[in-house]
Amino acid sequence: MSETYDVSPQSLRGLMETYWGPRGWRTPSRLPETPAVERAIAAGLMFAEPWTTSHDDLVDRAVRAAAALSADDVGQAFLASLTSRRLDLRSALGSYAVARLLPSHAFQDPFAGDPCHICGLYPGKRTVDVNVLNFERFKWGGVRRDDLEYLAFDLEQFTRAPKLSPTSADIEVGKHLLEVLRTSTAKTTSTSVLPALRMVPGNKDERSALVEILGACGVLETPDHHGYAESYLPSDQRELPVRHHVDTAYPACWWTGADGVNDANLALFLPQLAT
Ligand SMILES: [Zn+2]
Repeated sequence: MSETYDVSPQSLRGLMETYWGPRGWRTPSRLPETPAVERAIAAGLMFAEPWTTSHDDLVDRAVRAAAALSADDVGQAFLASLTSRRLDLRSALGSYAVARLLPSHAFQDPFAGDPCHICGLYPGKRTVDVNVLNFERFKWGGVRRDDLEYLAFDLEQFTRAPKLSPTSADIEVGKHLLEVLRTSTAKTTSTSVLPALRMVPGNKDERSALVEILGACGVLETPDHHGYAESYLPSDQRELPVRHHVDTAYPACWWTGADGVNDANLALFLPQLAT
């Protein structure tokens, strides 16, 4: 499927109401047979069948999809998402940053029964519910930031996305966002900074995904915990803080205001926001 999908609210409705209701998550055992779902399928937003795939296929798809894109493609789309709230466009920057330097590789398993130590996937055939991935993509800009299933899906879908160009309002919001991140106090964390990022229209969960995307790009990283700008970080090296609940993806979970903004990585992915 390569044709552009349709992001009108009427077409998105089936995707959104299948997985989200007034009380939050819905977990249907199969796709509801409703006119809204049929419309979403016809619009290219939902899929009648899951992906049947494997480790090697997903690596191949993620590597190929990232190679077909440039930092400029996904950077422009990210900027254009800031005021439009087109979260499908925002997500691709994070997936591109992670997949850009992902090495092509066969399953690497030093100990039987473990996941691949490069990408974190288990071997064997797998079925991927791409509808729930697309829901998360449109609802929050994605949540499985470094999950290879999501990377491959998100980047392939990005090529089908109706694109927008960033406006001067997007650039202004982006610069304001960076200024707040750059001048945050040392006590500020990637979670506590969220209320200060209200210049970006949307809700807290959307802004949290946005911070995670900036982490994947290495714009928000720390001296000990890098993003993916300079090299692909194998899954067994993505250390998480030792605390009961980590609610932000690596490496943004480590970021504090003391780390500020990495300007070299900002210039690499979002040059229009670089100072
Ligand atoms: Zn792997």
